[in-house]
Amino acid sequence: MEITERTHCLILGSGPAGYTAAIYASRANLKPILYQGIQPGGQLTITTEVENYPGYADGIQGPEMMVDFEKQAKRMGADIRYGLATKVDFSSQPFKVEIDEEKWIEADAVIISTGASAKWLGLESEQRLNGFGVSACAVCDGFFFRGKEVAIVGAGDTAAEEALYLSKLCTTVHMIVRRDEMRASKVMQDRVMNTANIKIYWNSETDEVIGEKNVSAVRIKNNQTGEKQEIPVSGFFVAIGHQPNSEIFKDFLDMDEAGYIKTIPGTSKTNVEGVFASGDVQDKVYRQAVTAAGTGCMAALDAERYLSAKGIH
Ligand code: NDP
Repeated sequence: MEITERTHCLILGSGPAGYTAAIYASRANLKPILYQGIQPGGQLTITTEVENYPGYADGIQGPEMMVDFEKQAKRMGADIRYGLATKVDFSSQPFKVEIDEEKWIEADAVIISTGASAKWLGLESEQRLNGFGVSACAVCDGFFFRGKEVAIVGAGDTAAEEALYLSKLCTTVHMIVRRDEMRASKVMQDRVMNTANIKIYWNSETDEVIGEKNVSAVRIKNNQTGEKQEIPVSGFFVAIGHQPNSEIFKDFLDMDEAGYIKTIPGTSKTNVEGVFASGDVQDKVYRQAVTAAGTGCMAALDAERYLSAKGIH
């Protein structure tokens, strides 16, 4: 392993958490290096309008907001680079991180903000209409379907929560469940079933999302009878889970069974002293841009305190 560089503070990921960590770390004079990962700007770059991030009174497009975050981090002096962390060695200090399978960087502190990725069904029509009625985030996009009919796929707590959220905005929520029962907690299931405008389709799978420019309907198939039916909808929400981007850390960091990095409650500290986690890679509950930014700030402050306690400036 040839070490090509050494830094005090290495930030991995470029969503709201990573950029906020970079802003704070730069202002604390830690001269952070941030690697953006394969999707600079993170999940917000695949959404359209963001209306719930405080400070943007008129709303803003997700990709534009992430350009603003990046500009702000650069203005503070963060060294922002395109590149993906491909391997890590947290077994001893300084920590070692491999970038793009070609070079290794040493860091005194590492902030992980690698996010999570929504799982998709894998249909061509789902991909083609993504952002044009297809969404993986009801809280982000539900507002655009006020007074309309929508469909949602999934039967876990996220799907239940999002179906309930949508039921307050939309006339009817058609919930497509692939088995004859839900995985969601009992209390969430009860809420869904007691909501008059949520209609559940059991044993049903999505055959196709229909629409030229925008979603106009969804065709579902009953996996017991083979019967197909078309439901006219304007929005199609996929809520079949998220995958935290934490695979490369699994030999070193404590995670839950789904791969979310565990942090000490109320902090961004992981089980390895000097390694911090922020944003969706450690949050399966809130998953909002503003909460990710908040934990990015926490990670930079925790890193700063850790480095000064060690006398590293
Ligand atoms: P889960 O993995 O719990 O559920 C995923 C759901 O999607 C399951 O019902 C699954 O069906 C379904 N699904 C998966 N793949 C497909 C597919 N290809 N086609 C159709 N359906 C599919 O993910 P969640 O995001 O719901 O939750 C993740 C974790 O976060 C859970 O532990 C949950 O409890 C937690 N959570 C907690 C919340 C809270 O406490 N407020 C809120 C949200 C999440 P099947 O059941 O058949 O496998």
